[in-house]
Amino acid sequence: MGGVVNMIWTWQMVQPTSFNKETKETTPGKLEKKQIPVPQLQPGEVLVEVAGCGVCHTDLGYFYDGVPTVSKPPLTLGHEISGTVVAGDQAWIGKEVIVPAVMPCRKCILCKTGRGNRCLDQKMPGNSLALFGGFSSHIPVPSVDLCEVKKRGNIPLSHLAVVADAATTPYQAAKRADLQPGDNVVVVGITGGVGQYMGQMAKALGAKTVIGIARNQEKLNRALKFGADVVINSTDKDAGAISKEFRGICKERGLPATGWKLFEVSGSKPGQEIALGLLSFTGKLIVVGFTLAKTEYSIGRLMAFDAEIIGTWGCLPEYYPIVLDMVLSQKINIEEFVEIRPTSSIAETFAQAHKSPPMKRIVLTPDF
Ligand SMILES: [Zn+2]
Ligand SMILES: [Zn+2]
Repeated sequence: MGGVVNMIWTWQMVQPTSFNKETKETTPGKLEKKQIPVPQLQPGEVLVEVAGCGVCHTDLGYFYDGVPTVSKPPLTLGHEISGTVVAGDQAWIGKEVIVPAVMPCRKCILCKTGRGNRCLDQKMPGNSLALFGGFSSHIPVPSVDLCEVKKRGNIPLSHLAVVADAATTPYQAAKRADLQPGDNVVVVGITGGVGQYMGQMAKALGAKTVIGIARNQEKLNRALKFGADVVINSTDKDAGAISKEFRGICKERGLPATGWKLFEVSGSKPGQEIALGLLSFTGKLIVVGFTLAKTEYSIGRLMAFDAEIIGTWGCLPEYYPIVLDMVLSQKINIEEFVEIRPTSSIAETFAQAHKSPPMKRIVLTPDF
């Protein structure tokens, strides 16, 4: 810590990758190391010295795939942040915190009716929090939403960055699903950055059975150690083949054919097709992953099945302490799923992660 901080070091996205439809030319995106002044902190705001910031699929979407950020570039990406409060609101100084990925306005009808995770006026670091994001030395944020970290034992503060978004989104999804002890659960895309925590979360909340579906066998084997009871490798299989395999597993294990809670985390058309194929009587499909692709389904089946399809977005800051507790009490393992790299490796880390999803969530730690 030490001393008054006047300047923030940061890796800005000066421009995202762009594609010219006429010339068919791709202009590569640009990340640049910059120094920006610390803004005048308003009452209720603090400055957090960043310990770590996770590299999320969403960041890659902004940088490579034309997903627009709310604040126009140049801005700094990064929304999975842990750190220490070094300025602002006196009551917070010196405290270790996790910055929620989504910070609701707390004034609108959604916020007042418990749906603040989807507040339309919400602020997200690395997207809609002016030009500020987590791939920086510091970040100014409202203090009201911060999740204080106490008694973290041997777990480094930087690793806890993944609680923001990657580990909390599954908790909100489980809430939306009204997940109860004894429920039977399928996680489609259980090997992904959020999927691996979805499987662990379902188990930690008392699911009787967790079936994980994905393509990477190495990661599926790991899922068996962390949450999943059974896995199905979906490589080269269509939704029909997966349904058949699923029914076989149910028969073999004496599991019911009804009431399954299905979490689609892959955010892909094949994943959605698999999940829809498994949706049956009194089942619930919770859509956690995002894709622009269109997937066909005859929604009349929902009536016949007395079933539901539900979307879920982000996680209420109020739930962060619950998830942090689950991590600190080892009900949810993050250590096996985190890799630390210096923030200066941001360009090559983005490029690698975009090329092929890494085995572990990469958390960048400031080295300015
Ligand atoms: Zn994220
Ligand atoms: Zn709101």
